[in-house]
Amino acid sequence: MTPFFEVDKKIEIASEQAMKKCAQQFENIEKTTEYNQLKVQAAFIKHNISESHFCSSTGYGYNDRGRDALDKVWATVFGTEDALVRHNFTCGTHTLATALFGVLRPGDKMLCVTGTPYDTLHNVIGISGNGMGSLKDFGILYEEIPLKNNRLDYNAIKNAVDSSVKMVYLQRSRGYELRPSLLVEEIEKAVRISKAENPNVIVMVDNCYGEFVERNEPSDVGADLIAGSLIKNAGGGIAPTGGYIAGRKDLIEKCAYRQTTPGLGKEVGATLGHNREFYMGLFHAPHAVGEALKSAVFISALFESFGYKTTPAYDDKRGDIVQSLELENPESLIAFCQGVQQGSPIDSFLTPEPWDMPGYDSKVVMAAGTFTLGSTIELSADAPIREPYCAWIQGGLNFHSAKICAMLAAHQMLERGLLK
Ligand SMILES: *Cc1c(COP(=O)(O)O)cnc(C)c1O
Repeated sequence: MTPFFEVDKKIEIASEQAMKKCAQQFENIEKTTEYNQLKVQAAFIKHNISESHFCSSTGYGYNDRGRDALDKVWATVFGTEDALVRHNFTCGTHTLATALFGVLRPGDKMLCVTGTPYDTLHNVIGISGNGMGSLKDFGILYEEIPLKNNRLDYNAIKNAVDSSVKMVYLQRSRGYELRPSLLVEEIEKAVRISKAENPNVIVMVDNCYGEFVERNEPSDVGADLIAGSLIKNAGGGIAPTGGYIAGRKDLIEKCAYRQTTPGLGKEVGATLGHNREFYMGLFHAPHAVGEALKSAVFISALFESFGYKTTPAYDDKRGDIVQSLELENPESLIAFCQGVQQGSPIDSFLTPEPWDMPGYDSKVVMAAGTFTLGSTIELSADAPIREPYCAWIQGGLNFHSAKICAMLAAHQMLERGLLK
């Protein structure tokens, strides 16, 4: 198949068969990619983006045209009144925290309707941790509604939302849970139910890993505020760091007062040369997400053909770019991650080993041969060494590159006598 990598014939044949199975899904993905690419392109054109928007500011960053126009392009793409796209959001968690602290006030209640949120939000909300200055420390109340059979519990949402609830919060992606991610139509239904009970409620969506997976975004179906990381989907693999918040103008203003200071808001913030990368990243994002989705579908089809349980299945509808494989034992997880690493463009010569990681209660083995440290729109795999021995895979800036990594992962397992 290729003179550049050594892959067992058996894996090559399985890979060809997996490709055939993926054809229909690939066609669907291509259509979504095209729709979203044109959406982004039209937004650039609408706002007359030119080379002058790539200019850099320093110091206070007053009147940074590139920064201000990027917010407008972003708002157009996500169907919102305004947006806040900044390189000094250090990660997704920081971006989400800024939005939460930006709009919630002492005595307000936040209601998460997708079960317990992503791990890193626990300290932000005050579900765990003490004295760190969480929302809880500032008198913000928190309640959550568990999922029911892995889906939104619409009845429970209807019963829980009343005038005492300031914010309904949803997490679109499954994160590291074996549940399906939310589809935008499900988010729409939750919005409709929540606003019928309390028209003033603010619906916020953690949009991490979800951008450009479907034609609509949560903000197109009534969410008031969405936020995500730029080293995931929306940065297109080009943004080197950063995050975004998009939504209602009054809410974005509050988020900006939190991100800088009350009074200064969006008026300050030097862009230090990042504008061009952010524009280019947004431009590439629909395509990068399409490639990541194709990679996930292929990996799912390939490993299913070997007899492993994969979620989602290759032909399932997807709400995010995350793929998990139940590899059944620690040795297989390690072989898989080492195979992925071997094929990566960066750090291919490193051998990932299981390690104690902060915030995990078991050792974790990770494969990440990425251009941007920690970027998960680039192909990456991580696997906590604990039951049910799942590898979590996301990203793939281009399908061909991710495909060979998946084949090398299978090859490593085969070589060690682990492949079913
Ligand atoms: C990645 C992610 C976050 C934020 O994580 P960071 O590592 O801080 O960028 C939050 N929620 C979900 C669902 C995520 O996938």
